[in-house]
Amino acid sequence: MEEQQKDELLLMRITGEDRPGLTAGIMEILAKYGANIMDIGQADIHNTLSLGILIRVTEDNSGNVMKHVLFKAQDMGVNIQFSPISEADYNNWVSRQGKNRYILTVLGRRVEARQIEAVAQLIADQGLNIDSIQRLSGRPSLDPEKRIRACIEFSLRGNPKNRTELQDKLLKISKKLEIDCSFQKDNMYRRTRRLICFDMDSTLIQTEVIDELAKHAGVGDEVKAITESAMRGEIDFKESFTKRVALLKGLDVNVMQEIAENLPMTEGLERMMLALKKYGYKIAILSGGFTYFGQYLQRKFNIDYVYANELEVDDEGKLTGRYVGEIIDGRRKAELLRLIAQVEKLDLEQTIAVGDGANDLPMLSLAGLGIAFHAKPKVTANARQSINTIGLDGVLYFLGFKDSYLDV
Ligand SMILES: [Mg+2]
Repeated sequence: MEEQQKDELLLMRITGEDRPGLTAGIMEILAKYGANIMDIGQADIHNTLSLGILIRVTEDNSGNVMKHVLFKAQDMGVNIQFSPISEADYNNWVSRQGKNRYILTVLGRRVEARQIEAVAQLIADQGLNIDSIQRLSGRPSLDPEKRIRACIEFSLRGNPKNRTELQDKLLKISKKLEIDCSFQKDNMYRRTRRLICFDMDSTLIQTEVIDELAKHAGVGDEVKAITESAMRGEIDFKESFTKRVALLKGLDVNVMQEIAENLPMTEGLERMMLALKKYGYKIAILSGGFTYFGQYLQRKFNIDYVYANELEVDDEGKLTGRYVGEIIDGRRKAELLRLIAQVEKLDLEQTIAVGDGANDLPMLSLAGLGIAFHAKPKVTANARQSINTIGLDGVLYFLGFKDSYLDV
């Protein structure tokens, strides 16, 4: 009876200056000896190659494989190391691969070593492994004036020891070191997010429209005081809204057009909207402000859904101080996000919400990815992630966009 051929597992680590044809040259030898590729990974950073190949080859071929690959490596001027792997080690390694994966995104105006130090220390303290690190932003210019944003993404493996503590510490690091962080589970939902819901006032635009209307109606100070108190979550949104709208009574509706045409847009708004549209995201404005302005932005950026509040107008074209229909408050925003997701046949995990006010918190916690944007402290403290250092296009990094996908 013929004796059965035994197989060996062999790990090859190849490092050195990258050369065209290196991978093909090694594979040609492995193919000749009928090797199976059990695992392979390659990274090329600053023209330095690191290639790992785990092969399975018959025992009587393994010596020849090592000899020929070694000659090839010498020819090409790269280093090579061989390590035999036992079956037990291999099975142990395979069983560890099921661990959870996370993505930690760090962004800011610039990235400094002290920021990465703090983040990397936290990752280690939480018992997570860094699998890879990549830069999502373009290469920074040496001219400090041109450094407008920087973003680094960590791919992590393992289970955080304490998720709440991790979030708290990230928030503290962010505040202290002027960065923004997002910690997300790395799964298919993260890669297939399709619906993004925005608050309007102080998120897409740099003002509260109701304050602008109030200025024109001569009741600016009274309305502003109520708005601020509502956004800090001190008084009920519905109550404050009704009070403020009543103060607008008698205002000519024609001022709305003038205000709309002069709305101060938030930094990064256009860049973000163009990218979201181009890559097929459904976009919604869910606003406790007014439909007139939501629809103005809808036309400008081709937005799919707008839900906001409608001001009642009398026969002479003056505001009556009342509103029409159901008021959009925090609870309603979350409800609308859920409904739109249903209409678009999406899992809630595939949705994103972005907002700054206390009335955005319900939708921020319901969405798969909730981002507090230059938000009030209470909102930032309760959101999973926030952006405070850069403009709205920072949202794109949390979705995994790279500058190289966008700036072509
Ligand atoms: Mg707002």
